[in-house]
Amino acid sequence: MEPQSPTVTAGQPRELAQDDLQALFDALTARGWTVVGPTERDGAVVLAELTRADQLPHGVGVRLAPGGYRLRQREDRAAFAHSAGPQSWKNFLHPERARLWQADRDEEGGVTFTPDTEETAPAPRYALLGVHPCDLAAISRLDRVLTGGAFRDPVYGPRRDAAFVIAVACTDPGELCFCASVGTGPGLREDAPCDLAVHEIADRDGVRLMISAHSGRGAELLSDPRLPLREPHPELPELARRRTEDAAQRMGRELETEGLRDVLAGTLDSSVWDEVASRCLTCGNCTMVCPTCFCTTTEDTTDLTGEHAERWRRWDSCFDLDFSYVHGGSVRTSGRSRYRQWLTHKLGTWHDQFGSSGCVGCGRCIVWCPVGIDLTVEAARLREEAGP
Ligand code: SF4
Ligand code: SF4
Repeated sequence: MEPQSPTVTAGQPRELAQDDLQALFDALTARGWTVVGPTERDGAVVLAELTRADQLPHGVGVRLAPGGYRLRQREDRAAFAHSAGPQSWKNFLHPERARLWQADRDEEGGVTFTPDTEETAPAPRYALLGVHPCDLAAISRLDRVLTGGAFRDPVYGPRRDAAFVIAVACTDPGELCFCASVGTGPGLREDAPCDLAVHEIADRDGVRLMISAHSGRGAELLSDPRLPLREPHPELPELARRRTEDAAQRMGRELETEGLRDVLAGTLDSSVWDEVASRCLTCGNCTMVCPTCFCTTTEDTTDLTGEHAERWRRWDSCFDLDFSYVHGGSVRTSGRSRYRQWLTHKLGTWHDQFGSSGCVGCGRCIVWCPVGIDLTVEAARLREEAGP
């Protein structure tokens, strides 16, 4: 993938003072959207339903290490200058658990099935506030997987259609971020697939937001007379451009993507997998936090009377033994084969299936791996072993 140069969105940007962010919340709420955005909770920046702008993590930054995550105080009051937390937007578009249908037995012994469809269970209308470019790329990849083929996912599709996406360019990448090397950030492209594109500029003058509409819905929202928008200060576009350019230079990690798919295809017998397996706990954390991992399984439940049953879909992981269970047992019984499956799919065979890498460079899998396994390091080792 071509490395992306940091760009500032064109169009007709408007300026919003950070103190007026509540007006944006109000405009979204008045149109029926529930705002979901970052907030500080339990020592992390998490994503949650928000009603007030003061719930955003103003002045909260993040310090990352393999297997380590700490909040830090920023010197400014920026609300979106924190790198990826333990959740991604898939938690809201492709939720951990979703009911597929319910069944009830009547007095005559008949059974009535009630599927959870768009008619019986309308999708929530989320306004996703603060989607960083790597996560915007992750949503685009989920779009391709879950709505781009012959079958549209009945849970993701309606939630995605209903979502209003407010992307924010990244100005403070973490120690484990590598979106610049995989071409997904830290800037927002002019054709970024969102409704609003925001650049947050924090400096001695305070915090200012430069906002551009990227869709008809976005333009309609910006035309709300209750939004105290003004012409952007002439220096703002250049400041925004410099912030993302600077961010691109400060990535803590890099992933060499050139030819990686072919390198990985030849690593079946590599001893690197044995070494990783000696550390990997096969806990599946990396798949849970990854914004593009989408696998699910189903489970049935009944109440104690046996009169009511439900089928639920929940996230699954290729690190689970059951995941590869076919008649007679699991196909991938070793940690070696399960880690290999994850990495070679994510960085290699995704290209064959979906035309892109499955990794957007957010760094979450490195942060939330309890033993700090780093896919950029493992991919580099495999490349080195494969030789020139
Ligand atoms: S593989 Fe890791 S770095 Fe890549 S998108 Fe998934 S969580 Fe982020
Ligand atoms: S790589 Fe890390 S997070 Fe992933 S399964 Fe192994 S121990 Fe868990």
